[in-house]
Amino acid sequence: MTVMGVAFWIVVGLVLAKALAQLWLQNLNQQYVRAHATRVPESFKGAIDEQTYSKSVNYTLAKGKLSRIEIVYDAVLLFIVLFSGVLPLIYTLLHSWLGEAAWANGLFLLAAGLLLSIPGLPFEWYHQFRLEEHFGFNTTTQKLWWLDRVKGILLALLLGWPLLTLILKLVEWTGPWWWLWAWGSMLVFQMVMLILAPVLILPLFNKFTPLTDGSLRERLLALAARTGFQAKSIQVMDGSKRSKHSNAFFTGFGGFRKIVLFDTLIQQLEEQELEAVLAHEIGHFRLKHIPKTLILSALGSLAGFYVISLLATQSWFYRAFGFLPGNIAPALLLFGLLSGVITFWFSPLAHWWSRRHEYEADAFAAKVMTQAQPLIRALRKLNEKNLGNLTPHPVYSGFYYSHPGLLERERALMK
Ligand SMILES: [Zn+2]
Repeated sequence: MTVMGVAFWIVVGLVLAKALAQLWLQNLNQQYVRAHATRVPESFKGAIDEQTYSKSVNYTLAKGKLSRIEIVYDAVLLFIVLFSGVLPLIYTLLHSWLGEAAWANGLFLLAAGLLLSIPGLPFEWYHQFRLEEHFGFNTTTQKLWWLDRVKGILLALLLGWPLLTLILKLVEWTGPWWWLWAWGSMLVFQMVMLILAPVLILPLFNKFTPLTDGSLRERLLALAARTGFQAKSIQVMDGSKRSKHSNAFFTGFGGFRKIVLFDTLIQQLEEQELEAVLAHEIGHFRLKHIPKTLILSALGSLAGFYVISLLATQSWFYRAFGFLPGNIAPALLLFGLLSGVITFWFSPLAHWWSRRHEYEADAFAAKVMTQAQPLIRALRKLNEKNLGNLTPHPVYSGFYYSHPGLLERERALMK
């Protein structure tokens, strides 16, 4: 067999291995959930009523069913995209129109990315307007949903195109060490985005208002003061515009730091529970989880760029997918399409890392609140309101959950 033939079968094997593993994990989880479906798990007796529990089981099963169809669809689509010759065709067409300048190749990458996202739209639509709607979560209108997509495309053009063009230029300018330069530029870009996104991008999608004066604000500011957290702004986001799901998160860093609470979260929790949730978020900050995670992901992307630089010098890598070696743009695209079949296997490791941080932030919250109960109550309520799966299969949750399950978190908090 030729090198190209070997490459072909390796790729087929990797795509199949990931899809089969995903299907197996879904099945495992579905069976596990069904086996626990008849009654509320012992540890949650009294905390959740039968009706809500059975609704959460149905929600999990419905999502699982949709995602099984999606896994097969995505794998078939990836085969078609990789081996039908459609990508080289777009590449040749764009070249004959626009030439081979870095900006034209950047546009090719962007256009390919955009085209490849279209087949997924029906699933996203169905998920929002059928599944989420059915379980009472959807508050998005058709108009808002489509507008979000259009804004996303414009942002990709505005931000992604210049970045891709710069990376392709760096390949021309810096020779064999281009990958280090490209990695450095991407890090700078990410840092700038961390500062700009909360100010310029997030407001394009949501409205942010400072938490209004009152007992809640006083309580949260007192918490911030006693934990040494500079909290000039606690912002409320109109998450209810799209969904009834609730959340709280952190944006920016340094002087740009902001804590964001969904309006849905404020509706769902008591003041003391909200304080516990904020204490958890401050825990992430005080324990330096954000810079640690940034460093880890930077190391991951460094490895990624290095691997692309190696693959980009191999002519079989281009030829196996119908391209001619010469320009690096196809190698970037192919890597982008294929990296998921490798990184998937690392997801338990990444989730283990993030779960450790969740436990630490929980412990921090319990300490500064001097008790674990408010956080436990908050977590229970959030799980109930979001119809979270109370009985995920441990292997499944290892692959898919960045946060520990409710039961695991409660056990750790009780210690
Ligand atoms: Zn957290």
